Amino acid sequence: MMENEAGQGAVRFGRREFLLMTAAVLAGCDRSGAPASAPAATGVITVVATVGMVADLAKRIGGDAVAVETLMGPGVDPHLYKVTADDLVRLQRAELVLYSGLHLEGKMQDVLASLGGTVKRAHAVTDTVPREKLLRPEGFEGQFDPHVWFDVESWSFCARSIVTILSNLRPSEKAAFEQRGAAVQKSLRELHEWVKTKVAEIPEARRILVTSHDAFNYFGRTYGFRVIALQGISTVTEAGLADMAKLVDYIRDQHVRSIFVESSVPHTTIERISRDAGVTVGGELFSDAMGVLGRRERDYDLGTYDGMIRHNVHTIIEALR
Ligand SMILES: [Zn+2]
Repeated sequence: MMENEAGQGAVRFGRREFLLMTAAVLAGCDRSGAPASAPAATGVITVVATVGMVADLAKRIGGDAVAVETLMGPGVDPHLYKVTADDLVRLQRAELVLYSGLHLEGKMQDVLASLGGTVKRAHAVTDTVPREKLLRPEGFEGQFDPHVWFDVESWSFCARSIVTILSNLRPSEKAAFEQRGAAVQKSLRELHEWVKTKVAEIPEARRILVTSHDAFNYFGRTYGFRVIALQGISTVTEAGLADMAKLVDYIRDQHVRSIFVESSVPHTTIERISRDAGVTVGGELFSDAMGVLGRRERDYDLGTYDGMIRHNVHTIIEALR
């Protein structure tokens, strides 16, 4: 069990998750090998994005200058994702591969590294998030917590990454990318303010977020929640019975009203804890994957980043208010 406030607890994440990644992949790289004098590329930029949150930014900023495919759809856990043969073809064909980075896509980053020169360009969009904005949980082998999208303000730095990457690929479209990037950043600032206003509806003592895995530490830091998760930063290691018993005790001690399942993690363990602790499951949160594109709730689309954040906030408020 991990608690962000105390900043302690052993976050379990296998060392091998880090070993296979090359510096080139982590830093983002351009493997086109094209000489500087080569004619500028034209046409729609084919983009493969690993997760929906990255694809959402690329679509909004790229507009009709990009065609974006997402590898990991609704309900898919990026920590555990294994690439298929089809994915390998997509990754190699795309003009640009965008991933979130900071080891979110554990196995995926291994694959990008192993593909070497056959992937044209691969960039981690979180490269431009200032390091002082990132959480470095104790016990996580000195690595940063990858779930940055839950601090909406910090996530907006990734929009700048994408504007730069796309502008380098299609300099003739730079003004349009800049304009859409600025609009996205403005809308993210508004979303950030909206979240702050909404969570104020929950009394401070009730702002405890109990979930399956430790995806919400940025959310907790930015919007004032204590965040407790059964599994660590990654879902690679499953929780044991002792972890479950500790979490049940915590829920009882703190008089937590509701706990939450996640859309990309099996529900069974949290459901069992809710029974053992005698609390309700307050709903399903989107943690590492967005919802189905086109499925609407209130006035937003669950398959968008905006919809992901708004759904989570409404769900949390209804359960804890
Ligand atoms: Zn995660």
